[in-house]
Amino acid sequence: MRVVHTKQQLRKALKELRSAGGSVGLVPTMGYLHEGHISLIRRARQENDVVVVSVFVNPAQFGPNEDLNAYPRDTQGDLKLMQGEKTDLAFLPRAEELYPDGYATYVELNGRMTQVLCGVSRPGHFRGVATVVTKLFNIVSPDRAYFGQKDAQQVSVIKKMVRDLDFNITIVACPTVREADGLAMSSRNSYLTAAQRAQAPVIARALFEARDRITAGERCSASLVDLIKERITTIDNATLDYVSIIDADDMSDIETIIGPTLIAVAVKLGRTRLIDNIRIEV
Ligand code: AMP
Repeated sequence: MRVVHTKQQLRKALKELRSAGGSVGLVPTMGYLHEGHISLIRRARQENDVVVVSVFVNPAQFGPNEDLNAYPRDTQGDLKLMQGEKTDLAFLPRAEELYPDGYATYVELNGRMTQVLCGVSRPGHFRGVATVVTKLFNIVSPDRAYFGQKDAQQVSVIKKMVRDLDFNITIVACPTVREADGLAMSSRNSYLTAAQRAQAPVIARALFEARDRITAGERCSASLVDLIKERITTIDNATLDYVSIIDADDMSDIETIIGPTLIAVAVKLGRTRLIDNIRIEV
């Protein structure tokens, strides 16, 4: 595995790796890798000749009062895991490498896709995500890029951006990897106290319960939203950001559940913001 820190080094290394021909898969991450990230790298490894993993805690996607400085980091641990998954190239740029002084260009998506769910409480977040992903796409020119369904809105935003900006890149959405008790794996789970960690699986359980109710015939999204809210209020010091039941494709609100449906939740446990979702095909 080659470890590179600059765009120039990355392009040079990629040119050599590409000279044999074959496809390139990119896995963009913010590091502090866990089994969720690993599942993306494995999928990329299966489907491509060259696998590039980026680790970059992207300042542009954090709001002024968010956890940019506290975000967990473990470069050595990350490199070890990447190597274990036969990553070809690890790209670990510094912030100045991607956003040098005077940096001024951003990618912004209009419309409801970035204005609902996390777009409400995290203004500017998807602008930061779309910008850094565009930059990574331009630097790496992958054939495929791998994203987790855990960040379902992010997947929708990236897919839309790829269509709108004519990127010739296939976006591969990978299933959410969970802890044994259901909690969706996240680098931010490391912020949780033992007591919060013990209660956090309530979120996933509430989603699973809603799914079971749908399987049993429930079609009213308002009653399912009420059910999930009720379960989440049982968590100590939990502040609900949103529970939304939306069309999984266009992210419009739905009253009666029919077709591909996304149930998405964001909750703050103390100061830690957790998100989770499930996709249901009715
Ligand atoms: P992050 O480092 O949190 O920005 O995540 C990097 C990529 O890994 C994103 O595409 C995430 O959606 C994906 N990811 C994070 N957690 C999980 C998970 N538990 N299961 C599957 N993919 C995940």
